Amino acid sequence: FPSSRPTIPTAPLTARMRDALRAIVGEKGLIDDEHGKQPYVTDWRGLLVGGAGAVVRPGSTEEVSKVVRLCHEHGVAIVPQGGNTGLMGGATPWPAHTGIVLSLGRMNRVLDVDAVGYAMTVEAGCVLQTLQETASRHDRFLPLSLGAQGSCMIGGNLSTNAGGVQVLRYGNARNLVLGLEVVLANGDVWDGLRALKKDNTGYDLKHLFMGAEGTLGIITKAVLKLWPAPKDVCTAWLAIRDPRAALEILSEAHAASGDNVGSCELMSRSAIDMVLRHIPGTQDPLKADTPWYLLLEWSSSRARQDGTEGMTEKLEQFLADQFEAGRVLDAAIAHTGNQSRNMWRIRDSVAEASRAEGPGLSYDVSVAISRIPGFIDQGLKAVLDILPTIRPYPLGHIGDGNLHFSFMGPKGMDQQTLTQYSSAITRAVNDLITSMGGSISAEHGIGIDKLDELSHYRSKTELDIMRTIKRALDPQNIMNPGKVLRL
Ligand code: FAD
Repeated sequence: FPSSRPTIPTAPLTARMRDALRAIVGEKGLIDDEHGKQPYVTDWRGLLVGGAGAVVRPGSTEEVSKVVRLCHEHGVAIVPQGGNTGLMGGATPWPAHTGIVLSLGRMNRVLDVDAVGYAMTVEAGCVLQTLQETASRHDRFLPLSLGAQGSCMIGGNLSTNAGGVQVLRYGNARNLVLGLEVVLANGDVWDGLRALKKDNTGYDLKHLFMGAEGTLGIITKAVLKLWPAPKDVCTAWLAIRDPRAALEILSEAHAASGDNVGSCELMSRSAIDMVLRHIPGTQDPLKADTPWYLLLEWSSSRARQDGTEGMTEKLEQFLADQFEAGRVLDAAIAHTGNQSRNMWRIRDSVAEASRAEGPGLSYDVSVAISRIPGFIDQGLKAVLDILPTIRPYPLGHIGDGNLHFSFMGPKGMDQQTLTQYSSAITRAVNDLITSMGGSISAEHGIGIDKLDELSHYRSKTELDIMRTIKRALDPQNIMNPGKVLRL
């Protein structure tokens, strides 16, 4: 936790309130024993452990509304929580938190799939992977895809405006939404659950709540956009010359694939080795030993016709050209589902492997795409100047200009010692990304971890606008207090 704690409401959960909450959500909807609360007050990385009077698990929007209204009347703070996979501590209460954690996990129904209209209406507690599978059963595609998809929930995805590995083609989570239903800080329900592609009736309110990390209201339902299901997919694993080559390959891939690039993920050798060390069953797709790799996927909703050129043939030809140009040094194309899954598993397991590796630092930054190679060079130099034995393992969604600029601590160094270097390293990385016109948080949000960084790097005007919105929608500061903004 940052050393200086922001002001958060400390109204306690009285016995009467507990009874009132139990009456709303039922016995199974209230957890107030220490053991039961533990997973809800601990963040995914196991680094932050907060406090809570109780965990409340409503089963409907009406119950959420009643719970929030009750908390509002008593000035009790609420931390909304989905799958608790966020990496910035946004879903973790501060240790001084005396209010509730409101978990959306019981609100997990798919309410409607409109295959003809390419839309799906869902409750906020649906697990992302379940929604992908539901869309697929209707021959449709929900493109939001990230390593935590087996446990993160759509309400959390929208509240963090999650990115992932398909942003290049389909955009961030906020681009996948047609409508929202939100419970406001006073318990009122805003029904914006409209499936309209066009709606220019004043301010677009749904965008206020997406990316707000639960500080403005609780997302209870959403109408999501769907796309045609991919029918012809080809995944390849490339050893490449350097990050600049990755940009050149991507730039040419758009036209060569007929605008069918689905994903383009940059990985360093050290990130791959870390995964192979810690994640059982993963296999190195290539025997190459170069510092940089690219996971490239092309996909089309048009099924491959016999005798015509499909994605695999197109990608093979493209890679031959890239090999000639000296950008690709070696390549493996997945010819089976297992080979493709293995490639994706390596990419998706980096966060899990880093947790197993031990103490480390990670910066989720973005910059204009063409500036990525320069940022990597200068950023590595700046960090290694501060701590020469730190072990970098950069990777990223390179087509989005998004790097996870990550480091394992020096061998044998404990978390406490690494923390002594972390402020200097954080300042060096964030100063550099800002000087290059980039962002200190590309897709993971602010939460608790970047609370002070946001105040440092956003302008007074921007912070004033954000505070004005927060105070207007949540004057008592009960919605996820002490996250995103210091008031
Ligand atoms: P939580 O962690 O429960 O909550 C996140 C924030 O949203 C908190 O501030 C919480 O208060 C708020 N919140 C949750 N639900 C609601 C709601 N219904 N209404 C209002 N506020 C709410 N992120 C990416 O963007 N791209 C990636 O590629 C990516 N890969 C990941 C890989 C791994 C292995 C892991 C562990 C995480 C990864 N993440 C990634 C981060 C994380 O998975 C995403 O931020 C995800 O969107 C969080 O969803 P969640 O349901 O777990 O939310």
